[in-house]
Amino acid sequence: MINPKKIFKLALISMMAVLILAGCGGEKTSGDGKGKDVLAQIKDRGKIIVGVKNDTRLFGLKNPSTGKVEGFDIDIAKALAKEILGDENKVQFKEVTSKTRMPLLQNGDIDAIIATMTITDERKKEVDFTDVYFDAGQSLLVKKGSKITGIQDLKKGTKVLAVKGSTSAINIREKAPDTTVLEFENYSEAFAALKSKQGDALTTDDAILYGMVDEDPSYELVGGTFTKEPYGIAVKKGNKKLVDELNKALKKLKDSGKYQEIHDKWIKN
Ligand code: GLU
Repeated sequence: MINPKKIFKLALISMMAVLILAGCGGEKTSGDGKGKDVLAQIKDRGKIIVGVKNDTRLFGLKNPSTGKVEGFDIDIAKALAKEILGDENKVQFKEVTSKTRMPLLQNGDIDAIIATMTITDERKKEVDFTDVYFDAGQSLLVKKGSKITGIQDLKKGTKVLAVKGSTSAINIREKAPDTTVLEFENYSEAFAALKSKQGDALTTDDAILYGMVDEDPSYELVGGTFTKEPYGIAVKKGNKKLVDELNKALKKLKDSGKYQEIHDKWIKN
């Protein structure tokens, strides 16, 4: 005969075991999803996984003939890999958009975001940022000859194109509350929509808009900048060691002239 008391005891023990294990799981995900801080994971695997744009000329654009991504953010990521891991090839790139970059970081799919991302107080609640590594500002792109010459012309009845998950989509509603804002998944879709006249202007950072002018000079920036968009590298919250390491590496790039070299290669305006 099985002793009912024994069964109860056994059930109690297994329940406790489950609770303890679940507790451990909680601990594990608190830092980085895998039990170690992200910097330790990067060093263990010998490469850093960076989320970058694939459709943003000058910052992160996939070259169809090589299949490789190219741009300012890409070169910064490579230079950081060289500083931290001793080899600029010890970096793996994963595509992000403005909308997907935060979830991909939180899931642990990427270690860091280097993707035209503005440091904001709102975002600081969810991720940690390094020091500023690039200064941009929001502006407007229109077809040359357009009647729109600045945000003052974005009135009722005008349509502005923006990208989901960007600060630009939020800022433009505040600065031009009467205009209609249409949001797209990424910058190539938004620019294609401007070209097919689905909107009167496209809004995002000046540095990104210059990349579009580079692609098609029949478009131009108008009205100057109306926000400040300081770019930072984002990492999962609570990874101070990684932020410190990235800041140290960024400083070295600035001190050595490497940062300036990368800047001058991509940024002409
Ligand atoms: N820098 C702005 C942002 O972080 C606009 C560029 C982008 O969409 O990545 O939202």
